[in-house]
Amino acid sequence: MLEIINNFINGKFVKPRSNQYLDLFDPATGSVYGKVADSSIYDINQAVDSAKKAFPLWSEKTIEERGSYLKKIANEIQVQSNILAEYESRDTGKPISIARKIDIPRAIENFKFFASYSENFDFTSYIENDSSFNTILRQPLGVVGCISPWNLPLYLFSWKIAPALIVGNTVIAKPSEITPFTASKLAEICIEIGLPNGVLNIVNGTGKDSGDMIVKNKDIKAISFTGGTATGKLIYQNSFQSLKKLSLEMGGKNPAIIFEDCDYDLMLKTILRSSFTNQGQICLCSSRIIIENSIFEKFKMDFCEVVSQLKIGDPNELDTEFGAISSKKQFDKINYFIDIVNKENGKILLGGKPIKLSGRCKDGWFIEPTVVEGLDNTSRVNQEEIFGPLVTLQSFKTEKEAIQIANDTDYGLSATIWTNNIERSERVVADIEAGIIWVNCWMVRDLRTPFGGMKNSGLGREGGDNVLRFFTEQKNICSVK
Ligand code: NAD
Repeated sequence: MLEIINNFINGKFVKPRSNQYLDLFDPATGSVYGKVADSSIYDINQAVDSAKKAFPLWSEKTIEERGSYLKKIANEIQVQSNILAEYESRDTGKPISIARKIDIPRAIENFKFFASYSENFDFTSYIENDSSFNTILRQPLGVVGCISPWNLPLYLFSWKIAPALIVGNTVIAKPSEITPFTASKLAEICIEIGLPNGVLNIVNGTGKDSGDMIVKNKDIKAISFTGGTATGKLIYQNSFQSLKKLSLEMGGKNPAIIFEDCDYDLMLKTILRSSFTNQGQICLCSSRIIIENSIFEKFKMDFCEVVSQLKIGDPNELDTEFGAISSKKQFDKINYFIDIVNKENGKILLGGKPIKLSGRCKDGWFIEPTVVEGLDNTSRVNQEEIFGPLVTLQSFKTEKEAIQIANDTDYGLSATIWTNNIERSERVVADIEAGIIWVNCWMVRDLRTPFGGMKNSGLGREGGDNVLRFFTEQKNICSVK
């Protein structure tokens, strides 16, 4: 029987007014397993009305009271973590082990972190001089919109919702239409833990329609968006009439720079992860590997060897390390770029073909992890975000050249530097154009630190105080002494 996902408005699951639904696919089998509501303006307005009604009571609660709801949500996700990991794996095609190890634990952590971290946030501060006394308040904005992508569904959905709620906003949230299942399970959890009606409303549908209606709604004060750069630019353009606050987390073309003097074994192990975790579908994945020429040939051989050992297969199998591509559209896009490698005279060292598995996954969307050399940085493959299991190798002779190649892109999300020379790493990080730079590691996150990109990768920063500031408005109250 098909799973049906409805909207969650004012504490209840409701059908879309139009009764229209979109197909939901299991990428590992290529088959439809459910339907998700395709919302119209009526549904969006209903959600916004419910959020507006819930705002006064929710915003008047203390931070500890709101935090206690967030902690209850975190605890319930923990209780249901195994089944949530299964749902996440089915929606995205990612290996169940990754959903268990990365996606669900991080969703729990997001709620827990903002519940306690925000207790020490400065909602009130003071500035005094000889003649006046100023009280600076940070207050919630009202109703805010959170729009998230398909690659890390509950992880990124909760990363936005938790800070928006903790500071007293009520929320209209839209998961990706490709992977909405765990968001609807989150709605069930909200009912179970007694979150007041209307505080969190989850609406479903396509980006160009439902997402756009959220962006253009005049009662929504801010949009926190994670997704592609082209979409982020559209949101920037479409929200100007209502002068919304915007936080845009967008695409990347992240370099990993490898110097001869690095810890080679640690680097090799980590570059394997940073290239192919979640089939390369993490915005922080390294897609351009830039290697000092003295170790280029050795790296090339060793890297292809470790990549070829990745266990590719059914995401349900516990030992699978590399699963399916999350949608047919993404599968076609990656194959298109593999064709471009050939047209641009690049050399495919490993992979480069769709994979035909047998049994349950015979019609699934699988592509071999692919390693390419011989393309210079101006090629389309090195300039455009592919967001899949395709990495390129380039060599450099000097530090300056490595930095030049790394920065030669419109994106600026993350970068990884591999060297044991501290002075060198300090010089390189100073010149790299990226919001997040990892030295001798990857994906290590302290949730208090700023998260986001520069150039075409982002506007604003999430995490820690940054996101709490984003979701609040300042008010200065001045009195004369
Ligand atoms: P996408 O831009 O197609 O969609 C993201 C979300 O925006 C979805 O919910 C979609 O329905 C919605 N949307 C689409 N068009 C819209 C519109 N006109 N108005 C309002 N909402 C709209 O992105 P995607 O394909 O789901 O995700 C992949 C992209 O996300 C990649 O580019 C990846 O780099 C990026 N990403 C970035 C980060 C980050 O933190 N910087 C994290 C994860 C993914």
